Amino acid sequence: MIVPRIVIAGAGFGGIGAARHIARGLRRTEAEIILIDHNPYQLYTPALYEIATVPRDAAPAMALKTTMVLPLDRMLAGTGITFIHDEILGLDAKTRTLSLRDAGTLPFDYLVLALGSETNYFNIPGLKEHAYPLKRFEDAVRIRNRIETLLRDRDTLTIVVGGGGPSGVELVAEFENYICRIQRAVHTDQKVCRHQMVILEGSDTILRGFDPRIIALAQRRLAALDIKVCTGTTITKVTETEVYPQEGSAPIPCDILIWTGGVAGLASFGHFGLPLGPKGNFPVDEFLQVGERIFAVGDAAHFIDPRTKTPLPWNASIAEGEARAAAKNIIAAVRGKPSQPFRPARRYPYILTVGKKYAIADMIFFILPGLSGWMIKLLVELRYLIGIFSPAFALRSWWRKVMLYISND
Ligand SMILES: Cc1cc2nc3c(=O)[nH]c(=O)nc-3n(C[C@H](O)[C@H](O)[C@H](O)COP(=O)(O)OP(=O)(O)OC[C@H]3O[C@@H](n4cnc5c(N)ncnc54)[C@H](O)[C@@H]3O)c2cc1C
Repeated sequence: MIVPRIVIAGAGFGGIGAARHIARGLRRTEAEIILIDHNPYQLYTPALYEIATVPRDAAPAMALKTTMVLPLDRMLAGTGITFIHDEILGLDAKTRTLSLRDAGTLPFDYLVLALGSETNYFNIPGLKEHAYPLKRFEDAVRIRNRIETLLRDRDTLTIVVGGGGPSGVELVAEFENYICRIQRAVHTDQKVCRHQMVILEGSDTILRGFDPRIIALAQRRLAALDIKVCTGTTITKVTETEVYPQEGSAPIPCDILIWTGGVAGLASFGHFGLPLGPKGNFPVDEFLQVGERIFAVGDAAHFIDPRTKTPLPWNASIAEGEARAAAKNIIAAVRGKPSQPFRPARRYPYILTVGKKYAIADMIFFILPGLSGWMIKLLVELRYLIGIFSPAFALRSWWRKVMLYISND
């Protein structure tokens, strides 16, 4: 019997969520489920700043990778989901086929686009050439390698982070201890830890869109870590050694510039023959559809919240929520039932780590700052791992990660 083929493009929070919900909701005789990604693993982005700050002597790149990324073969074992390790190059919505780099064309009956986003450099001169992004595993390793190489030849360092969103704040706060540890190891005669860290943020506050109490707590914590925050500062040009803010301000010298100031839909989305939203991702309707039998979720989706009339932000909880809703609609369609509109929650929980074992956990009904917030962050990660792996593997993998997280604290 021929069964419909459901293809999920991208194995991040949205893609894995959608694939697993569909696999749980449909019998194997009802549909074929295929998940495609160009990586054989899921990158757990909430821990990416940790990867960028694990000292090389604690974990060389290969060891870091095996510990930090989540292997898809283990995750999908016994789920009935077929994994294709390949790169998606394009889509023909009319003939319902995907084109893959190695496997050629792949026809589908239903498609979930969950391909995430990429760094947006806003065409700022010199930014793409000179700044370090933080989006992929390799980006994090490049950042730590660069810092450790620079610290071999000098006893001080100026790090500028462009973008005061959660990724920029988490990263810069975690640098504090990491850099001191490297400095102590390399310059054994150096008594004080010397470095300067600056966040440049274009809008009038860091963590725009966050609860004002969280912003206030984060600002206090950054100040305690001696991190300079410059809001209302737009980067207009970048050279190898300097960042140029808006006209009238002096250039800021820096040894390394890390750019976390913007994300956009993948450049390749332009070749998919589907409409694109203002941020280059796919505008979806209330059922999360962007075309006939084509859904988009997570960062790849531009969903307007019917309550606030504004687009949903891009984060893991929202990607998972959208994935669940799209999966339900695909299951309904396969069974000839009507679709249900996606109703986003009013608020989603978020945990922001601001250096070492200090995190601000926004649990919707209360906010927990400090060590307790950090413990909750670890428990959230453990819960995620237990949801996708066997309990024994999840626990082992989680413990190894925690050991690396605290290696620079
Ligand atoms: C540094 C950083 C820290 C973050 N921290 C948090 C946090 O603490 N909490 C939170 O809620 N959110 C956080 N986010 C945001 C969160 O990671 C994203 O919103 C979430 O991952 C979106 O899920 P997704 O499934 O849409 O995309 P992703 O998780 O990015 O998954 C997309 C997948 O598609 C694959 N892919 C892309 N292109 C292709 C192709 N052409 N062919 C095949 N496969 C492809 C990728 O390999 C990837 O696996 C963070 C993001 C970053 C960059």
